Amino acid sequence: MAQYLKRGASAETRADADRKVRDIVEAALADIEQRGDAAVRDMSIRFDGWDREDYRLTDAEIEACVDSLTPQERKDIEFAQTQVRNFAQVQRASMKDVEVETLPGVVLGHKNIPLNSAGCYVPGGKYPLLAGAHMSVITAKVAGVKRVVTCAPPFQGRPARAIVAAQALAGADVIYALGGIQAVGAMAIGTASIDPVDILVGPGNAFVAEAKRQLFGRVGIDLFAGPTETLIIADEVGCDPEIAATDILGQVEHGPDSPGVLLTNSEKFARETMAEIERLLQILPTAEHARKAWETFGEVIVADSTEEMVAIADEIASEHVQVMTADPHYFLDNMTNYGALFLGSRTNVSFGDKVIGTNHTLPTRKAARYTGGLWVGKFLKTCTYQRIETDEASALIGDYCSRLCALEGFAGHGEQANIRVRRFGGREVPY
Ligand code: NAD
Repeated sequence: MAQYLKRGASAETRADADRKVRDIVEAALADIEQRGDAAVRDMSIRFDGWDREDYRLTDAEIEACVDSLTPQERKDIEFAQTQVRNFAQVQRASMKDVEVETLPGVVLGHKNIPLNSAGCYVPGGKYPLLAGAHMSVITAKVAGVKRVVTCAPPFQGRPARAIVAAQALAGADVIYALGGIQAVGAMAIGTASIDPVDILVGPGNAFVAEAKRQLFGRVGIDLFAGPTETLIIADEVGCDPEIAATDILGQVEHGPDSPGVLLTNSEKFARETMAEIERLLQILPTAEHARKAWETFGEVIVADSTEEMVAIADEIASEHVQVMTADPHYFLDNMTNYGALFLGSRTNVSFGDKVIGTNHTLPTRKAARYTGGLWVGKFLKTCTYQRIETDEASALIGDYCSRLCALEGFAGHGEQANIRVRRFGGREVPY
């Protein structure tokens, strides 16, 4: 039976916070619905101190951001974008259109059709997370989306230069300097100055994630991708307490609502890692967010066996799971609920977040039970079609269809079948 050396906030505390966010988002979206651009502007002033007539950046502003990059900064961004593009292209190539003859004369198929437009949210309230631009904009472009619109909040009172540069280098068609609920609300609902999109993608804080959730149905969304979560699965063979502590703090610094969990099979390892976390919190420049997150949501669990570690990890269904044990592949083979796995101590979540090429927009709050992260497939609709190439096949399917419709009492549907059995089979349906 697993032992908890440290427990995170209770379910009631989390539910209470969720309720507050839900109410704020509901009111904000209703306001955008009613007042359009005026509401967007009011919220931008209120939440970000950012006021403009038109939040769309001009070509000159975008160019200035790209030109502000040093040669090394530009090279680094382009390297990361190349890795993301390369992997997205391989994933795109794996999505084949299908056409098959399932019975003589019966042809079924599907086509993967890119969405016409996408709204890519790039988070940037606390830190200008420029990687969000590669992850959303490049992936949409590789999928074949025609109009890619992107929003990121201003940073320290002006458009975030590195994010804007990354958005432009990634190939965005339109760039707005807008953050939070007002950004995703405007892209989904549309205003006089912002045309609505077909799908909203990208991660964000609790307000952004909740706004996307409430807007789902009106537009598509990629997934529920809120405040970052990390689970470190480690033992004394595959890891040491300093690496485990570094990797937990490296993620909980995202914000005070980011859970970090250590799952191990050794109480000694767990206690040493907790001591390391306290030591590192004394020197980490972002300790303000990290300490709050660790104290509120951090968990330390000691399991009895590898099988129990898998079961607990699947129950947590964390966004990121780093496995640094004697046999990381055991977890790849046996775990079923995770946003992304990082196998072995040579890699880590930060590599995935920034540069290695897999997508960093990943499911949170247990959404990993039913979805993986953002990828080209989220920008494609897999739409089916069918045709019947012979009279015999039409009559054969018609026989079955007619009888199944009778079973349901669906007379109109049944007649669609009957008329074809008569027309193409020259007979009545045998009952
Ligand atoms: P953000 O861009 O998500 O949010 C900033 C916006 O929040 C601001 O522009 C502001 O308009 C709005 N806001 C702030 N306080 C508000 C309030 N009280 N009421 C209404 N709106 C308010 O940037 P952030 O806050 O730095 O958060 C980024 C988030 O993205 C972090 O939580 C991080 O963990 C998460 N993230 C998740 C993933 C993932 O894949 N799940 C990936 C990267 C980042």
